[in-house]
Amino acid sequence: MAGDPFGRKRGKCPICGRPSEQDFRPFCSRRCADVDLTRWLRGAYAIPDPGDSEERAADANDGAKDGEAGPDRSQ
Ligand SMILES: [Zn+2]
Repeated sequence: MAGDPFGRKRGKCPICGRPSEQDFRPFCSRRCADVDLTRWLRGAYAIPDPGDSEERAADANDGAKDGEAGPDRSQ
């Protein structure tokens, strides 16, 4: 039914498929945990914000006056 993908006791390492170690659950080793973390971080950064573009544009105009990231301030 509502299957826990990692299992409660021993699951498989989602990275390499080996049995997960308790210390590194759900991974089998710190290395695999690191790999997953890196993937997650990259994915988080890589995901674009489709609904944010409009807000960004408006924010950019406003932010310019505030001097946020404004290298072109000559006044
Ligand atoms: Zn692994």
